[in-house]
Amino acid sequence: MDEDEPTVDMMLATCRTPGCLMEGVGQVAPFTAYPTPPTYRGWCAECGKPHTDIVPAP
Ligand SMILES: [Zn+2]
Repeated sequence: MDEDEPTVDMMLATCRTPGCLMEGVGQVAPFTAYPTPPTYRGWCAECGKPHTDIVPAP
């Protein structure tokens, strides 16, 4: 058995920073699932703030 590796899931991440060019624009990307919250971690490529809205990709 291999050591436990973090799983990677396709997630829909949306920036919610007011005024950001990417505000409200969802982006589907692979996110690593960490064992501790927040389970998925991503940062907006535009404003650099952590995504607060990450949901499973449809
Ligand atoms: Zn942003």
